[in-house]
Amino acid sequence: MFEIPASGPYHLTNARLHSSLAPGLSAAYDSDGFALADIAIADGRISSIVANRQSNTPAGAINLGGRIVMPCFVDCHTHIDKGHIWPRKPNPDGTFMGALNATGADRAARWSADDVARRMDFSLRCAYAHGTRALRTHLDSVAPQEEISWPVFETIREKWRGRIELQAACLLGIEGVRDKKWFERLAKRVAAAKGVLGVVTYMLPDLEELLDQVFAQAIKHGLDLDFHADETDDISAISLKKIAEAALWNGFEGNILVGHCCSLARQPDLDVLDTLDKVAKARLAVVSLPMCNLYLQDRRSDKTTPRWRGVTLLHEMKARGIPVAVASDNTRDPFYAYGDLDMLEVYRMATRILHFDHPVGDWPQAVTSTPAQMMRLDGFGTLAAGGAADFVVFRGRNWTELLSRPESDRIVVREGRTIERRLPDYAELDDLMVE
Ligand SMILES: [Zn+2]
Repeated sequence: MFEIPASGPYHLTNARLHSSLAPGLSAAYDSDGFALADIAIADGRISSIVANRQSNTPAGAINLGGRIVMPCFVDCHTHIDKGHIWPRKPNPDGTFMGALNATGADRAARWSADDVARRMDFSLRCAYAHGTRALRTHLDSVAPQEEISWPVFETIREKWRGRIELQAACLLGIEGVRDKKWFERLAKRVAAAKGVLGVVTYMLPDLEELLDQVFAQAIKHGLDLDFHADETDDISAISLKKIAEAALWNGFEGNILVGHCCSLARQPDLDVLDTLDKVAKARLAVVSLPMCNLYLQDRRSDKTTPRWRGVTLLHEMKARGIPVAVASDNTRDPFYAYGDLDMLEVYRMATRILHFDHPVGDWPQAVTSTPAQMMRLDGFGTLAAGGAADFVVFRGRNWTELLSRPESDRIVVREGRTIERRLPDYAELDDLMVE
């Protein structure tokens, strides 16, 4: 369609930008939130973005013909340590318990440093090719896996620096916190790796006490927090509210990201409102994982049809000023049989599952600038003069064109240059999949 030069400065003209993603651009936006703009790029950065003026196009400018340009994606909740184990360890029945048991068995038997490293690298190559610039993964940190996976993460983060900004949060059931000495050691290890402290919360009788210990360790070691909460249809699961209460009474000042919160969508309105007030007051951010939730939630053993979508109440949260994002979660493992860390797919699915449309409003921030803020990544997820020239040029010129096709021929530009978008071949992992 057109070629971005391999060297030197250049201009793009007739780029279609969304109002929520180009905060410095003053232009006449249409009812879908789009405006045509001209972008100047030099030395790997955006030197200017101005509203398109047909009369004033620089000579030699590359005409994008109104194609949508978005900043590179930020994927704030993934599990690339689990990714791609499906061929050797499928989920036998598609349920949450099936996923938990299958993954636990595979981890104990197969997750050597080499196995984890190769699958993580494979996942990152997928994410990079699809246009992702930053990614947070959870790392299963049940002993002795933490001693294997954290050094692998540190090595891979260095290898990928400049292409994908990689973060990690530890992952374990909150009952693991009862072993105070071990958990303190884990918190120290996470701090040494500049990671994030994460646990999975359930309605245990001592949940409040355990949460206090998690917050105490986060405060002691200066860590942000990342929870998996209430990934269930059980209406008695209210750990999101418990996390908000614990954040308030511990006076926690770091960032807190909470994933899933599925049960909230099943609870009575008055309970929901009370929880959301506390979540807003405690300055929690929430990430929904729409594809994984659709797959696991309301899975019925009697082969009847699922009747709810599994996702949490993002619209109600956003209306209260709670930062909300969507992310990939699992890819080709027992928690989700599919997926490729393609954030355009996540956004497309979220639009359908969560109704990010009519109007679109500022929902595109849920895969770009909002997760960037949650991850403390300044300048990521927006298009602005002075910022990195890291963006994706799509074929689509409006929402229906953008979200109807996979956009497999999108152009990913990093530091002003087109990257080679080659997805790794699944056969590369075949030797790891032998039973
Ligand atoms: Zn997750």
